[in-house]
Amino acid sequence: MAVIVSELDEARTLLREAVDQANKIVAFTGAGISTECGVPDFRSKNSPWLRYKPIEFDLFMSDVLMREEAWRRKFALDDIYGKAQPGRGHYALANLVESGKMTAILTQNIDNLQQMAGVADDRLIELHGNGSYATCVKCGLRYELYDIRKNFDATGAAPDCTACGAPVKAATISFGQPMPEKAMQRAFAVTADCDLFLAIGSSLIVYPAASFPSLARQHGARLVILNGEPTPLDHLADLVLRGDIGDILQPLAS
Ligand code: NAD
Repeated sequence: MAVIVSELDEARTLLREAVDQANKIVAFTGAGISTECGVPDFRSKNSPWLRYKPIEFDLFMSDVLMREEAWRRKFALDDIYGKAQPGRGHYALANLVESGKMTAILTQNIDNLQQMAGVADDRLIELHGNGSYATCVKCGLRYELYDIRKNFDATGAAPDCTACGAPVKAATISFGQPMPEKAMQRAFAVTADCDLFLAIGSSLIVYPAASFPSLARQHGARLVILNGEPTPLDHLADLVLRGDIGDILQPLAS
């Protein structure tokens, strides 16, 4: 049975104890770690992410009008959160990586904030890609959003790759697009090898990403879930910390 704690000081103390007792910690982060930075999460009320029906990958590939619409939406969202800075949760995790205790951070987030808090690529596994740049869907050539936007604002045309002619897309994983194979393999390996798995700020309902907490548990790790509201995996956890992510992680951030 999970112990559920919602009192702030007790949550901080129990988290500190769990961290102190562990040697190989893996964090798994969702949109909730970034809300205090001004990036809205996915499912909360008035979510800008849910304003429109998502454009599935096949449709993006087959229909130029859908590609233009995808870029319009992308830039509208960037106007909301494009200038966000990392928050207390990102810095707390960066400190744990720096200390050598945290072997990896798996993130569902696409906002680049964990990198901005100083976590190197070899410790960060992005399960749903990164929205701060774009790539050619065929040859993988990287494009910067600034350049794409300049051209898009002038012409309204969705960009194609200058090298191979295929569509260029934000470097995120769209609905219907295969998960990034290497990232998934790395994520499985570090999850199976950790002794403490911290799931932070995720509703834990997006699969396959949400399978990692159960996997960690199966491999004998302690599971701590930190979120503002209940999740469907709370019953699997050793400890559920319910409260504001930034507040609970703040002591580890400084
Ligand atoms: P989600 O929106 O489904 O769940 C976020 C959870 O965090 C919710 O349960 C919410 O109650 C909680 N939460 C929000 N702010 C909190 C706070 N300050 N303290 C404590 N709890 C808080 O997000 P998800 O599970 O990550 O799944 C959403 C999908 O959408 C992901 O796949 C992700 O790729 C994408 N997404 C990413 C971002 C981002 O990059 N920041 C933002 C929105 C959506």
